Amino acid sequence: MEMNGYIEKAEQVLMHTYNRFQIVLDKGQGVYLYDIEGKKYLDFAAGIAVFALGYGNKEYNAALKNQIDKLIHTSNLYYNVPAVKASEKLIKASGMDRVFFTNSGTEAIEGAIKLARKYYYNKNHQAGSEIISMNHSFHGRSMGALSVTGNPKYREPFEPLIGGTVFADFNNLNSIKEKITDKTCAVLVEPVQGEGGVYPADKEFLSGLRNLCDELDILLIFDEIQCGMGRTGKMFAYQGYGVKPDIITCAKALGCGVPVGAFAATEKVAAAFEPGDHGTTYGGNPFATAAVSKVFDLYEKENLLSHVNETAGYLEEKLDELAVKYDFILERRGKGLMQGLEFKIPVKDYILKAMDKGLIIISAGANIIRFVPPLIITKEHVDEMIGILESVF
Ligand SMILES: *Cc1c(COP(=O)(O)O)cnc(C)c1O
Repeated sequence: MEMNGYIEKAEQVLMHTYNRFQIVLDKGQGVYLYDIEGKKYLDFAAGIAVFALGYGNKEYNAALKNQIDKLIHTSNLYYNVPAVKASEKLIKASGMDRVFFTNSGTEAIEGAIKLARKYYYNKNHQAGSEIISMNHSFHGRSMGALSVTGNPKYREPFEPLIGGTVFADFNNLNSIKEKITDKTCAVLVEPVQGEGGVYPADKEFLSGLRNLCDELDILLIFDEIQCGMGRTGKMFAYQGYGVKPDIITCAKALGCGVPVGAFAATEKVAAAFEPGDHGTTYGGNPFATAAVSKVFDLYEKENLLSHVNETAGYLEEKLDELAVKYDFILERRGKGLMQGLEFKIPVKDYILKAMDKGLIIISAGANIIRFVPPLIITKEHVDEMIGILESVF
């Protein structure tokens, strides 16, 4: 069947929750994707900041194949070796003390909310706590994660959502101060807002927030689902700010394609959970955690962080040149290999034309092109991407 046939079929059988690009992807190699008709695309989206290692990494694939033959799933009623190894590596990388594996980013947020509420409950011997999150934030699509997502358009049709959620302005400490009550259990922030339009937090904002939370024994939760795992040039974005959270959420590149997320916390906070408070059938199963474990090994072996820092500088430079050259571009912003170009006009047509010319990019809001390539991209790939973009402009 040709591409159009599959697209037609897909539109008959899948729920219409996406306006998809009109291509059917078939395979990947390095930083390139191929559709089922053999057309090649340079991938600057990485499955939305997921496939950090690039496609077809032999060692990663071999580790997964090996784990498939050994044991794919048991249950959290028992221990398994990959989960222990993956936990140790995530703890070391994140500076947290204990971890809970989930199947997605959304579920990591759910767990973080529950943990914050339980911590408050233990401390105050009462429920009814509140969580403050940011306008224009994105934390996921489940009822809990949606409740703390700062985009009314996503939330409204599904109300009533969970209660006790309050919104404040990102990069505005006073706005948060105004919303704090004696019921506030946590403040939830993306150190670099992703879906909201690629906005990095200010250093003073995060350090001020840390002080405020310390003063009032409010938990600081960083959602690093998109900006974590090396994307900003540090293993976790918070490390570039020198501001440590009490709870961190992680997903996207954590398994590099295997559906897995996690929330991790300091000992003091994690201790609020007791047996029975939280659970999952799949979360942390040997297949998913074998992927996580191998991902951490490969980041180290391939020196991925220093590679990101080197390439990111070059990408920033090239995007800045575009912003100067074309007057319909407002600005570039971002950190590391998580960059956004904001336009004065909608970017959809540019993205479609780029795809025609063999470049996959995505938006983050109507006027912003987002660049979240596999972390293994080189300067040559940046040049190739810029060349295609310029030909589109
Ligand atoms: C993608 C994302 C989520 C949701 O993760 P899913 O795996 O899609 O459930 C939550 N927070 C941030 C910052 C994200 O980028």
